[in-house]
Amino acid sequence: MRKITYLSLGSNVGDRRANLQQAIERLSELGEVTAVSSYYETEPVDFLAQPWFLNCAVAVATDKMPRQFLAALQRIEREMGRKRIQPKGPRAIDLDILLFGSSVVETAQLTIPHPALHERRFVLVPLAEIAPDARHPVFKRTVRELRDALPPGQQVRKVAGSR
Ligand code: AMP
Repeated sequence: MRKITYLSLGSNVGDRRANLQQAIERLSELGEVTAVSSYYETEPVDFLAQPWFLNCAVAVATDKMPRQFLAALQRIEREMGRKRIQPKGPRAIDLDILLFGSSVVETAQLTIPHPALHERRFVLVPLAEIAPDARHPVFKRTVRELRDALPPGQQVRKVAGSR
């Protein structure tokens, strides 16, 4: 059964824009890429002493199951040379599953909706651009409502003319 999955993409090492573009091309191997947000310059969270990220959100319509989909994302991350030197630290590409249809998954390897989705401006601002009415299946709030409820804080700036 085809489902729409929403992903967060981020890069803060090397040619960040080229990294996002290459990852989006690779995502079309996993299904149909139906929407891509603008690119956003975002301030790091958690581990602050690192360069700013370039982030975007992408919608993919896929027949894969969530676990299979995650394995495919991790292969793309590996093949794009992501090295895990520092947890939460710099990376050429980071691919996270935010929502997967209305599925709720809770395993050691995979949590859907993404556990930090509702508290991250760098995730909710791009996602609200392509899916404002998508609903968080646990909190029963739309992406627009979650974005509007964020406390002020993390800086997220749309890159002019990025798409
Ligand atoms: P990170 O280093 O932040 O990219 O975290 C990667 C780890 O998070 C992987 O080991 C995944 O198994 C796990 N993970 C749990 N839930 C998700 C999700 N919704 N999307 C991507 N990775 C996830």
